[in-house]
Amino acid sequence: MTKRLLVALGFASLAPALAAAQAPLGLLPQPPDSDARWAPIEAMKKKGPGLAAAFASHVHRNARGDAMPYRLYAPEQLAPGRRYPLVVFLHGAGGSGTDNKKQLEGANLFGALSWTLPENQARHPAFVLAPQSDVNWACVIVEEGKPARRPADLKWCPTGVLGPGAGLAFEIVDTLLEKLPIDRRRVYLTGHSMGGAGTWHMIAHRPGFFAAAVPVCGHPDSATAGTVASVPIWNFHGEKDDVEPVETSRRMIDALRTAGGHPRHTEYPGVGHNVFMWAYTEPALVEWLFAQKRKTSSAASVEARPHVRGLYGGVPQEILDSGRSLREFGLDAVWMGSGSFTPERMALLRAQGVRVYAEFNTLHVAEYLQEHPDAAPVGPDGRVSPPPDGWQGICPSHEAYRRSRMEAFRTLLRDFDVDGVWLDYHHTHASWEQAVPNLPDTCFCDRCLSRFQKDTGVTLPGAATAERARLLLSTHRQKWVRWRCDLLTDWVRELRAILDATRPGALLGTFHNPWSDEDLGGARIEKLAIDLKAQAAHVDVFSPMPYHARFGHHAEPEWISRQVAWLGRHLGIQGTPGEKHRIWPIVQISDWGEAVPLEQVPTVLDHGSRRPATGVMVFAWSGLRKQPEKIEAIGRAFRAMRGAAPRDR
Ligand SMILES: [Zn+2]
Repeated sequence: MTKRLLVALGFASLAPALAAAQAPLGLLPQPPDSDARWAPIEAMKKKGPGLAAAFASHVHRNARGDAMPYRLYAPEQLAPGRRYPLVVFLHGAGGSGTDNKKQLEGANLFGALSWTLPENQARHPAFVLAPQSDVNWACVIVEEGKPARRPADLKWCPTGVLGPGAGLAFEIVDTLLEKLPIDRRRVYLTGHSMGGAGTWHMIAHRPGFFAAAVPVCGHPDSATAGTVASVPIWNFHGEKDDVEPVETSRRMIDALRTAGGHPRHTEYPGVGHNVFMWAYTEPALVEWLFAQKRKTSSAASVEARPHVRGLYGGVPQEILDSGRSLREFGLDAVWMGSGSFTPERMALLRAQGVRVYAEFNTLHVAEYLQEHPDAAPVGPDGRVSPPPDGWQGICPSHEAYRRSRMEAFRTLLRDFDVDGVWLDYHHTHASWEQAVPNLPDTCFCDRCLSRFQKDTGVTLPGAATAERARLLLSTHRQKWVRWRCDLLTDWVRELRAILDATRPGALLGTFHNPWSDEDLGGARIEKLAIDLKAQAAHVDVFSPMPYHARFGHHAEPEWISRQVAWLGRHLGIQGTPGEKHRIWPIVQISDWGEAVPLEQVPTVLDHGSRRPATGVMVFAWSGLRKQPEKIEAIGRAFRAMRGAAPRDR
């Protein structure tokens, strides 16, 4: 018997209780320190070199010049048309390096090789991937001159920052999914120690991606418990672990259960940090792992997000100039201002294979006022309402203005083969894109007031505008609010008719304020005159604008999915394939007012892409072009969403 790191003290008295408590998990019944239980461990050590020889050697290189070696085991015989599970093993610190060997040797042989034992492959033929990292898996902060000697000394990056090792491992997995007959619903992740921490880390970045995870004596981040609660997890820890204390596992397991998860958790009494020897020699673990299969309908699954992945703000010239394609960043749609359309730009985007959507200014072409000052919105004092924070709206009942916009809309659709047009954005004279919005009451011009009386049958006294406005905002408030909403909805009706007549099949979308009916005292309807339910008769895609940082929710990206969820309930949109109405939010990634930190990018895109959303786009290229790290982070998140069928239009 080789060295035993068991603590003998008190073990005998614990053994019966252990066997009884763990029987439901089907663990080997012998006490960890018994000869019978050591036998499979010793056998595994002997078989290691022979098993490792069956792993092919590869090196992954990405477009940025980063490289990661990996070893890959393929089932002995691949049946045509059949797809196989993939087990991904993340080595512990002892496997670090670039020799492409150590991740299958020593302590690592258990987690890397046990799946390839002939008896296991006979029952569960599977691919096994063992990448090798020399920069950890999870994200840790390395201080110069002060290398961490123990896991307890490691400084972990803030939650949500993807580790460079994990990022490259994801790239390898994504590449293999494209090349090999792998069952995407049966991709498993495991690892011990540093690789156990990596396992917790990677499932937090793609909670719906892995069918199951087996972290062994790893360091979890309990802040991610809510994110990974739905992942089938079997966690292992040695009760006497003096490297990564068992308490970290216990806290995470508690947090997972509180969050509604059902993780398995096994502690071996008396066993230290080398718990992986016991864990990976449990036949029950093999059976349990291969029985796990991801449900394709999982709401948390990024692969179940057949998303439109868009960029707002025109041709991303810097990406194209660097010789890379938009597809490399997972992008499949671009929104461009209608004034920026040229045949050349259109051709450039089409050559990238992306869908092209125009944004169209409906109610705030400020220049129109230069020759038509009578189209300026009027305030309750009877005077022209100054543009709130410089945001100039136009009177919605000005017929000549409306005709000019309808004509511009028709021309855009006639001249350019766009996949759709988004109204940008259709609301009354107000500035709401900030934490404290500026929402003046308008428009009380003679034209609006006479049309209101005609449409509603309400008779206003022949008094000064101020008195009439007072009545509209008090006695007649309900009818006034309804009339304003109906007027804006009627614009949408006419725009839709033009779209259907000019370019049938193109989508009509709308960028709109993200508030619920309750937010800011119902101001979306009362002040902005946006009745989404009424507009749904004419609109295909709703694109709320939950700019969390800009709107005072910079530390609360959950606000994004909360507002989107509200919209789904409000409009009866579930985000299921084939629905007429869709929700594709535009989320803030560029810094505007408040900065959006780099590490928040995946979280923001996660919240922006949760059901009922079936598409998501980022705001905005004008700011992002100077932030290459963010563009890469967007690319990683978008690539993770890619690949799911069916695709939306
Ligand atoms: Zn007016």
